[in-house]
Amino acid sequence: MNAEIGDEFIPISLLNTYVYCPRRFYYEYVQAEMLVNEFVLEGTLQHANIDAPGEHLTAEGDLMIRRVPLSSATLGLTGFADLVEDDSGALCPVEYKHGQSGRWLNDHVQLCAQALCLEERLPERAPIARGAIFYFGSRRRETVALTAELRERTRATIAQARELAAQGTIPAPLTGRAAVRCGDCSLQPLCLPEEVRRLREKGATIDDAVFD
Ligand code: SF4
Repeated sequence: MNAEIGDEFIPISLLNTYVYCPRRFYYEYVQAEMLVNEFVLEGTLQHANIDAPGEHLTAEGDLMIRRVPLSSATLGLTGFADLVEDDSGALCPVEYKHGQSGRWLNDHVQLCAQALCLEERLPERAPIARGAIFYFGSRRRETVALTAELRERTRATIAQARELAAQGTIPAPLTGRAAVRCGDCSLQPLCLPEEVRRLREKGATIDDAVFD
């Protein structure tokens, strides 16, 4: 067990990665591996336009703060919110994503973790009822209710990610319907998911460490 890694703060954005694929999380968080494909590059370029810190008032007088640093000592998280809107005292974190609304909860968990950090930092404020995700691909803004269920899922994800980081063994590649996610994954050349799956199907004894 790697207690040092398990005890470190986890970047909020990597909770999104964990929900997408625990193996990808392990590569990025534990092994600090990062490869760029067209999807990663597109997302980076789109974020470059919105990542400049700053505040401004809307025509209605509501405050909008960009690139808000976040952390939570109790949850062991650190990161940023792309935007936090203050609508007459009601805070709303907003996350920008390059694609379209996905079929998984990865973006929702990331957004909820941002809200949990904000609530810890501003305990005098009311609990945050909702956040929003803007998808560049569809140009749509999706409102996300920060329900008790989503909060529970987010806390469970944090615990699972920390446990995986501490155990020191890379998970197997995604299988079944979840394996469709590999098509967009920049780490494919490193992960070799299809090759590993075939070897496993043939009954080869695979120590996943050889693919690290
Ligand atoms: S290629 Fe697939 S299994 Fe490998 S890290 Fe990416 S999503 Fe996970």
